[in-house]
Amino acid sequence: MTYLRLRDAGGLPAELDTTNPSPDGPALDCFRCGICCERWQPLLTGADAARLAEALEMSLPAFFQAYTAPYPFSDEERLLNRGADGGCVFLRWQEQGGLRRAACAVHAARPAVCRDWAAGLDKKECLQGLARFASPEGEVSLSVLYG
Ligand code: SF4
Ligand code: SF4
Repeated sequence: MTYLRLRDAGGLPAELDTTNPSPDGPALDCFRCGICCERWQPLLTGADAARLAEALEMSLPAFFQAYTAPYPFSDEERLLNRGADGGCVFLRWQEQGGLRRAACAVHAARPAVCRDWAAGLDKKECLQGLARFASPEGEVSLSVLYG
């Protein structure tokens, strides 16, 4: 079995022992820990809003009312809202192999910033996500991540 091993620094995983520890680019596929969707509120483009409203079969004003929040730095732009648990309003969870995996309820119509976000060892969210799936010894089985 293949493992990633996390080294703990101040309670958070700071480094990984892997065969390819480059911090410069995506070195792993998304394993759906959900931390990025819990943490960030996507800023919507006009095209994002139109696509999401159409996917949800809503008018644009109704979509803005139901699913977006003001962006403090611009009256022209809107953020995707947060749900009751604090994460993105479209974040859902699926039980899989005893683990809780994130799923996007609007995946096909998701905002551009979500499409552009790539998992990687350079992202603290992904490192924290690995820690979620790690054993007490700090090991993460790749079959657990991607099984
Ligand atoms: S934090 Fe990384 S691994 Fe976790 S859901 Fe986001 S992109 Fe995927
Ligand atoms: S729209 Fe989907 S991919 Fe984007 S933050 Fe929300 S749940 Fe995550």
